[in-house]
Amino acid sequence: RTVYLNGEYIPETEAKVSIFDRGFVMSDGVYEVVSVLDGKLIDFDGHQARLNRSLDALEIGNPMPDADYLAMFRELVARNDITDGMIYLQVTRGNPGDRDFAYPPKDTPQTVVAFTQSKPGLADNPAAQSGWKVITVPDERWGRRDIKTVQLLYPSMAKMAAKAQGADDAWLVEEGKITEGTSNNAYIVKGNTIITRELSHDILHGITRAAVLRLAREAQMTVEERGFTPDEAKQADEAFVTSASAFVMPVVSIDGAKIGTGTPGNVAARLREIYLDEMRKTAL
Ligand code: PMP
Repeated sequence: RTVYLNGEYIPETEAKVSIFDRGFVMSDGVYEVVSVLDGKLIDFDGHQARLNRSLDALEIGNPMPDADYLAMFRELVARNDITDGMIYLQVTRGNPGDRDFAYPPKDTPQTVVAFTQSKPGLADNPAAQSGWKVITVPDERWGRRDIKTVQLLYPSMAKMAAKAQGADDAWLVEEGKITEGTSNNAYIVKGNTIITRELSHDILHGITRAAVLRLAREAQMTVEERGFTPDEAKQADEAFVTSASAFVMPVVSIDGAKIGTGTPGNVAARLREIYLDEMRKTAL
């Protein structure tokens, strides 16, 4: 694989980052994942806008203009001959040359890393036909989940707890209500109403969420942005999650309880189709 490191395209085996990098010792960095379908970037503008917000929120500074990220992503797609897959981008506060809680001076260069992951047939993922099983676990993450930091240990632990129970993912619960999945936003459907938690510091503002809710409203579906409990989810007609890599993924059970008929629902299937259609049309 050819990867990107601080302005250079190099073989992955040659891409080296300092042991003092703030990303390594402090999880002091942010990231984005952008899907690639048919060699084109899905919702680049949305992901770029969120990257800029994450960098701003942490005062990391932004090493390059939006157009340079776009050009870099396209270069990586071309050099690695990616048809379907993902681009991972990470920007850290860089290498202060030593370990210190205080941020280094503002002129410390950020570390910018990007690489591709090839996933042939990404949009035809068979999991979309069977749906995911989820469990619930307490949400024990920090309080600024709207910032997309590389601090992913708790979501990893929750994912492992799900796997240990034969499930596909975990939904995180705080004060009785579901915040989101380990790496996706969570939804239930009751009648014709799509319910998903409102935006705040408590969840990541999913780029897929924004697009799916916009498209749902355009298709005259009703959207309610509010929290819901695991019990309400168990009584729902359908459930699903959204993320840049899973798109719209049906959820068929929660903590072993079937949702609806225990098979992927019509609303999720329709939203997946509308979303993929629109995203392919607007891909860059
Ligand atoms: N919530 C969390 C905690 C996530 O990690 C992600 C994906 N990175 C999402 C939601 C979905 O966001 P997006 O649709 O932008 O991929």
